[in-house]
Amino acid sequence: FDIIKYNSFTKEKYGAKEISNIKGCIEFKNVKFKYNSKELFDNLNFKIKPNQMVAIVGKSGAGKSTILKLIDKNYEIEEGEILIDNFNINDLSEKTIKNNISIVSQSPYIFNLSIKENIKLANPKSTDEEIINVCKKAQIHDLIIEMVNGYDTIVGENGVILSGGQKQRLAIARALIKKSKIILFDEATSALDNNNQEKIKNIIKDLTKDHTVIIVAHRLSTIVDADNILVLNDYKIVNSGTHNELMKKCIEYKNLYEIEDN
Ligand code: ADP
Repeated sequence: FDIIKYNSFTKEKYGAKEISNIKGCIEFKNVKFKYNSKELFDNLNFKIKPNQMVAIVGKSGAGKSTILKLIDKNYEIEEGEILIDNFNINDLSEKTIKNNISIVSQSPYIFNLSIKENIKLANPKSTDEEIINVCKKAQIHDLIIEMVNGYDTIVGENGVILSGGQKQRLAIARALIKKSKIILFDEATSALDNNNQEKIKNIIKDLTKDHTVIIVAHRLSTIVDADNILVLNDYKIVNSGTHNELMKKCIEYKNLYEIEDN
């Protein structure tokens, strides 16, 4: 009640512009952003084309996750513009933003409900057939049907019966059932086993047929196939290119890649 009464959280502000058929182009133009008094981005610029898979890499604390949070309108920028299909995101309606952008976070919140209900939360109108389809795409269907109660299996408090990789795949299924054009992926920092890692890598690759995917990558082996990789250092993009290009021209990238056990 205190929270409601005093309105201590700043509310997200939305515009009135509705777009029903988003292409999925994202652009940061001269973006300036700070957390309270902590200056982060001074003049951040990049552009992502529809159906591209773009990865953001850099040391811990470089500002990678913040970029996803800004696209998802968790914070307001100080100067510049964030554009989706050339519209400033502040002009877009809440429905347009919420329907078209999904974030698959490091620890997706899973409710103590059945698997089916957890997915339906993202789109209450979805049919059983649609739910099965997205679970197949997220490579979690086989696992679900092996469970005693299948899609009606209750997953426990915060999905306790699921592993980290399985929870992420369930979160991908949720993003797909919403038919979000833009999927923001904050890769789990905790190590996934090779099998899960390979699965997530293949799922992401498959997603780019219909979606724009931005992935904050903690393990570079996941993103060697990305169309473009932005290398972030001290809140600045110091280089960009494909994996092969960056291995040749970007010492920061080469160092990040080589300290990993690839
Ligand atoms: P990365 O994803 O590259 O590890 P983040 O975007 O999470 O980096 O963080 C960038 C910087 O911003 C870090 O120094 C972090 O401590 C700081 N930061 C992140 N979230 C907040 C917040 N909510 N308030 C203040 N500072 C934050």
